[in-house]
Amino acid sequence: MEINRYEVCRYLGIRQGEPDARTGDLIDECQAELMKAATPRMVHRTYPLTIRKDGSLDLTCFQVKSKNLKKNLEGCDQIILFAATIGEAVDRLIRRYMKTQVSKGVVMQAVSAAMIEAYCNEVNLDFKRKAAQEEYFLRPRFSPGYGDFPLECQKEIGEALKMEKTCGITLTDSLLMLPSKSVTAVIGMSRQEISCQLEGCEVCSKQNDCPYRRS
Ligand code: SF4
Repeated sequence: MEINRYEVCRYLGIRQGEPDARTGDLIDECQAELMKAATPRMVHRTYPLTIRKDGSLDLTCFQVKSKNLKKNLEGCDQIILFAATIGEAVDRLIRRYMKTQVSKGVVMQAVSAAMIEAYCNEVNLDFKRKAAQEEYFLRPRFSPGYGDFPLECQKEIGEALKMEKTCGITLTDSLLMLPSKSVTAVIGMSRQEISCQLEGCEVCSKQNDCPYRRS
């Protein structure tokens, strides 16, 4: 798994991605410990998508009204629903360092956040390759809580993917995921060719000329 060091620095609020020597060493230490502790798991399913005349989205396993998600899924006729996690041991490691060595705990948080993104990118790259074999193009992943895509949809996604059983992800009453370094998302599949960035619209150069750009 390729952890993006620039992303780690961004999470730590370090500009230009250039940490000082001490922080750089902590990043390396955390990365090495996380690589041993992480247990990446994921689950996914593909469903037909219908965009209704009233603007609501029928994702087969649940229905939702979200202008932002609709914009992202225009031109798609299927979606991939997926959930991924790097596991509970990562949370234990973060908690331990937050108690014993806060500076390392903070870096551990940043590296693990970049690690779950890296894992999602790896999984999404695989989806992209498989979709291409069926002449489909993927849109960037779109998670509950982005824009007006309700966080409550975590419940439907969790049920559809049987997240707890398949990859050990549970939801708290306030819809946060446990383990904390977990992601759920919807990925649109379209016959229209668009070269989307795996990391999403935020890092894409099509700032002004893409109708599907997520807000
Ligand atoms: S802005 Fe870029 S990543 Fe986002 S939908 Fe458009 S092409 Fe894809």
